Amino acid sequence: MSSALSAIPAVLIVALGYAALCAASPFGNCRKCRGFGFKVKKNRHGRITRGRDCRRCDGHGKRIRVGRHLYNAAVRVHRDGTR
Ligand SMILES: [Zn+2]
Repeated sequence: MSSALSAIPAVLIVALGYAALCAASPFGNCRKCRGFGFKVKKNRHGRITRGRDCRRCDGHGKRIRVGRHLYNAAVRVHRDGTR
């Protein structure tokens, strides 16, 4: 008994899943500030206040996924090459 699934490398499935994720939502939440766009800090009274803008995402709270960035770069190269 042979399974057709075992013929497909798991790496390919993961890569496809990641590509689909990048296509569906090119932006992910910034891991540094968890999508808030700023640092969260406590003041003297123990209240949570808004700190400085996150340096990693410039206060957007969103980070473009590496896969999407590569895709954008590939499209750009392709466009430049075929002109
Ligand atoms: Zn951030």
